Amino acid sequence: MTIGVDDDERASPHLEDGKALEESWLQICSRLKGEVGEVEYRTWLTKIALGPVDGDEITLLLPTRFLRDWVRSQYGDRLSELWNQVLPSIRRVELQVARPGDPSAPALVLESDTSAVVAAPQGVEAEEAPRNAPEVRSDLVTALDTRFTFDTFVVGKPNEFAYACARRVAEKPSSVGFNPLFLYGGVGLGKTHLMHAIGAELVQRGNVSVAYMSAEKFMYRFIAAIRSQSTMEFKEQLRSVDVLMIDDLQFLIGKDNTQEEFFHTFNALVDAGRQIVVSADKSPSDLSGLEDRLRTRLGCGMVADIHATTFELRISILEAKAAASGVVVPAKVLEFLAHKITSNVRELEGALNRLIAHANLFGRPVTLEATQDVLHDILKAHDRRVTIEEIQKKVAEHWNIRLTDMSSARRARAVARPRQVAMYLAKQLTSRSLPEIGRKFGNRDHTTVMHAVSRVAELMERDPAFAEDVELMRRMLES
Ligand code: ADP
Ligand code: MG
Repeated sequence: MTIGVDDDERASPHLEDGKALEESWLQICSRLKGEVGEVEYRTWLTKIALGPVDGDEITLLLPTRFLRDWVRSQYGDRLSELWNQVLPSIRRVELQVARPGDPSAPALVLESDTSAVVAAPQGVEAEEAPRNAPEVRSDLVTALDTRFTFDTFVVGKPNEFAYACARRVAEKPSSVGFNPLFLYGGVGLGKTHLMHAIGAELVQRGNVSVAYMSAEKFMYRFIAAIRSQSTMEFKEQLRSVDVLMIDDLQFLIGKDNTQEEFFHTFNALVDAGRQIVVSADKSPSDLSGLEDRLRTRLGCGMVADIHATTFELRISILEAKAAASGVVVPAKVLEFLAHKITSNVRELEGALNRLIAHANLFGRPVTLEATQDVLHDILKAHDRRVTIEEIQKKVAEHWNIRLTDMSSARRARAVARPRQVAMYLAKQLTSRSLPEIGRKFGNRDHTTVMHAVSRVAELMERDPAFAEDVELMRRMLES
């Protein structure tokens, strides 16, 4: 890497040499990477090159105006802070577009660049970049996260349909009935993972250009194109890809111009036989605020939802991730996590990663006790204080029985089963003891509660529909 300090007479004398700068930059990069995550880091920050130092100001160079603006708006303050922390003589950071002849060099890349996995058209702003600049990836493409493949996606009841559709699109893009593919579901349930998996699979087979970006980025690019009067190029470029994937489409709600543009791009691509994959947090019909004609077109292909995870899926995911980490995590700990962290896979994964990091760091085996200790804060946040009364009320509503039957002596199954479920949930979701729970259910004995808990657990094992019902109750009570 070359740094324009040595032969720059304005260079600050208290910086011994370019080496100090380079090392500082490495440190900053590694911290940034930890803070923003792999994908963001690779997409935006590996493109920064070190420029000259002038007094207490360092210039960082970016290949295009768009990148400079983006980095400035998203990371500008953080970059200044980090520089100042790592190298206190630097107080200000100036972001500039590299010009031909600038002493710029490729940014430090902390690991192998994955640009090669994405076959994409050249960026519209390529002409802005210096001719001898390092290869600039298209701004249209967010690098695919190599961890997100079909192999690492754990399939279970809640996501098997979406998974099958994604696989199908990756194997045979643009087949009738699967275009567009619309994936929807709550936060952290694997939509982005599946989209990246489709991209990775297609690119691996070669000869296909894939563009993946979030709807937010789509909007940002579109606005930038309007400003720089390059909308034609933007459009042409988008319309030249074989597969266009737009993540988190709900972001376009209320952004009328961008929606309009997306609608036209969408039509042009589908008419030309190209594949579109879109994700959102709701189904097309529930995405209110989306233009009707867009909504209609989005629903025309395959709409696949990813349901909230079940206990079984959470266990399978944890098992897969624990196995991949090489750290032995006892089944009891996995079960504990799968019971406690039910919101989404991202949090589940985060909790497990923290455990694994801890185990590696201290070389101690993972135990249930250590888990409760290490994850103290996460677990606390998930310990919603649900009361037994709430549980009884919700369960009674769900199974359509009278609330008084929770404590009545009636033993007909239509009443007894929901009552057992309520006892089970009371045991799972509150810290009440068995005798306390028994008292709230018409002064029943603690052995009755114990029996109810094991009976429900057993039924859940045998009957997936019943298990899903109970899980649903649990989630409703926890949220
Ligand atoms: P979404 O885009 O739906 O919000 P993501 O795709 O970003 O969710 O998933 C969040 C995290 O959980 C990612 O790290 C992803 O790899 C992981 N994840 C989600 N579902 C699964 C699954 N079925 N198998 C393995 N990992 C998963
Ligand atoms: Mg996502």
